[in-house]
Amino acid sequence: MEFVKIAGTEINSSRIGLGTWAMGGWLWGGSDRKECVRTIYKAFDNEVNLIDTAPIYGFGLSEEIVGEAVSQSGMRDELVIATKVGLEWERGGIFRNSLPERIRKEVDDSLRRLRTDRIDLYQIHWPDPLTPVEETAQAMAELIESGKIRAVGVSNYSAEQMEIFRSVCPLNSSQPPYNLFERGIEEDVLPWCEEQGVTMLLYGALCRGLLGGKLKTDSEFPGDDIRNFDPKFRKPVYDNYLGAVEKLGELASERFGKNVLELSVRWVLDKCENDITLWGARRPGQLDDLAGTAGWAIDDDSMNEIDAILDTFVPNPIGPEFMAPGPRPF
Ligand code: NAP
Repeated sequence: MEFVKIAGTEINSSRIGLGTWAMGGWLWGGSDRKECVRTIYKAFDNEVNLIDTAPIYGFGLSEEIVGEAVSQSGMRDELVIATKVGLEWERGGIFRNSLPERIRKEVDDSLRRLRTDRIDLYQIHWPDPLTPVEETAQAMAELIESGKIRAVGVSNYSAEQMEIFRSVCPLNSSQPPYNLFERGIEEDVLPWCEEQGVTMLLYGALCRGLLGGKLKTDSEFPGDDIRNFDPKFRKPVYDNYLGAVEKLGELASERFGKNVLELSVRWVLDKCENDITLWGARRPGQLDDLAGTAGWAIDDDSMNEIDAILDTFVPNPIGPEFMAPGPRPF
């Protein structure tokens, strides 16, 4: 495993972090708690020490599962717990709310669910258009002062919003979407973070499973699974994405003796050499390929070949915008 210091801190994080959205079950057709705990241990056994969660993931359930696994592991001091704040679900919908009073309430709820006395990295989940960025940043600065959190991050923020945030509170990290199929941040957020020395936690390495290499043209997703709403999974576009996955898999195998999942994770690690990629998993077997992502790199020629495959199969890629929650109606 490769490690990196989160900018402006002494926090040493594995460059692959475990994503636990699906462990909450919500928007993923449910989850099995014992399997989830075993998945977290499997990650720890493979030197993954950063675990990313959020209150909204299963409305507290994902954080509770993380808290259970971490407290029973006896490894709390070696782990980096990253959670989020600023999405409200208690009033008949899911809304962005980064008001200072919301932040002050949520931090104590998260500490309780996570069974810990401090959060290593606390991230604003989505920018709240109804709350001045400065007020949100001030509330986060106060949490650092109080010792409840060790480092501050934002997620889904533009470069401009991060500039404002940073004028009030030191900003250690930013969590945007980034994978082979979702590259919108290459225009602004990625260069800004690199220039300003803000660590990125890049989410969606497997593009909600598309880049896992196991989905088929007739795959079905149970219940409330997010893939039932993701425009990439709608035909005929879906088949174009699967065509790209097949070609990328051939390239991975022929050039590196790897599979498409290993290529996809390695691609993010190589594109952002000082940053962290998040891999979402909820069953231990899903982490079998962790070792296969380490100890090699994608050369420039292969990077160009990958771009050519993407241009051929998905010349007009669809972004992850469909996931964005709305503003507060109150
Ligand atoms: P992801 O990591 O791109 O993909 C997760 C999907 O990959 C799941 O569908 C899973 O399958 C599949 N998968 C995992 N391992 C696999 C394997 N070995 N073989 C085949 N398929 C495999 O998606 P994500 O969970 O959305 O994103 C990762 C993390 O980033 C999240 O858990 C969360 O922590 C964070 N995130 C943050 C935001 C934000 O707004 N800040 C948004 C999205 C995600 P199954 O469906 O079969 O389990």
